[in-house]
Amino acid sequence: MKTTIYNLSKEDKNKIYKEAATIIKNGGNVVFPTETVYGLGANAYNEKAVKNIFKVKNRPQDNPLIVHISDFDMLKDVVSEVPKNAKILMEKFFPGPLTLIMKKSDKIPNVVTNGLDTVGVRMPSLKSTGEFISKCDVPIAAPSANISGRPSLTSPKHIVEELDGKVNMILLEGSSNIGVESTVLDVSENIPKLLRPGGIGIQKIEEALNMKIKGSSRDDVLKPKSPGMKYAHYRPSKKVVVLMGEEKNIIKYIQKEKKNDKIGVIGFNSLIKQIDDDIIKISLGDNEKSACNKLFSSLRELDTTDIDIIYAQGLEIKETKELDFAFMNRLLKSANSNKINTDTEV
Ligand code: AMP
Ligand code: MG
Repeated sequence: MKTTIYNLSKEDKNKIYKEAATIIKNGGNVVFPTETVYGLGANAYNEKAVKNIFKVKNRPQDNPLIVHISDFDMLKDVVSEVPKNAKILMEKFFPGPLTLIMKKSDKIPNVVTNGLDTVGVRMPSLKSTGEFISKCDVPIAAPSANISGRPSLTSPKHIVEELDGKVNMILLEGSSNIGVESTVLDVSENIPKLLRPGGIGIQKIEEALNMKIKGSSRDDVLKPKSPGMKYAHYRPSKKVVVLMGEEKNIIKYIQKEKKNDKIGVIGFNSLIKQIDDDIIKISLGDNEKSACNKLFSSLRELDTTDIDIIYAQGLEIKETKELDFAFMNRLLKSANSNKINTDTEV
């Protein structure tokens, strides 16, 4: 398949959106930037176009897609009711990195939601995403653009590497700002439930609603999922191991392992500065925000090298910050929950 690739920051946006909207109207698919990660979108009302997304991504049919809207008018056709908690949260966090699960309307085909009577709705805050959806004039069903199971796509280089030839169009606009996906919250029941930590912190949501939500404890969010947790997520092809503990112990552990395997390291600045230069290493910056921003692209970068194993520094969550749950949730999944406490190992 010929993929048309445009850079939104370099070319005439309106002309591009027009072309992209035609593709969407004709049942095709378009990769587009958002503030979280890049998405692979199709007309949410077109069953065949949505089915094709699952095919391109090799995504299991029973993992429902998020429907993206550009304004509240579109919402009316997507959901059958807007619960009180949803209203409060939309007022505060839409547009933004929050997906709300609500009762779906009849217009949304079952293939989008895997037959559930609910649908996930998000209004992205990146200006170009809103413009693109608005030009299409239909809600856009879109999962993260990556091939299923792989780290999500946040950088133009990786998008082209993974999807050129597989989709109708790719719209690029630099690296994703947040770098991890939206927070997914089910508001279809009276007490909202966290389904996935993401770009908006749990504490902000609880503050806005003035109540404790389900599934929001540290253990709920981070506990290693059993093998029963159906699908692998965010995995590079190399093995990832998360290293916890004091920096000095992580360094000792790495020194030891360096003798056994060809290793690469991802970690926060202060650790990376102390790692020998003969080890391939990537810094995640200084905090959980920069770490989210760089995590997926760092995993993909290390995946292209000849190392055997990726060691990634974990974050000890003491006082909950906005993005720390999202970071650790993605990191542990990329490592299949493979975690070593270096304080007790060395
Ligand atoms: P992705 O877009 O691939 O990053 O993932 C979308 C996430 O939203 C997945 O974890 C889905 O399982 C979840 N999701 C989407 N729609 C629903 C729904 N109706 N009920 C529960 N979870 C949903
Ligand atoms: Mg995904």
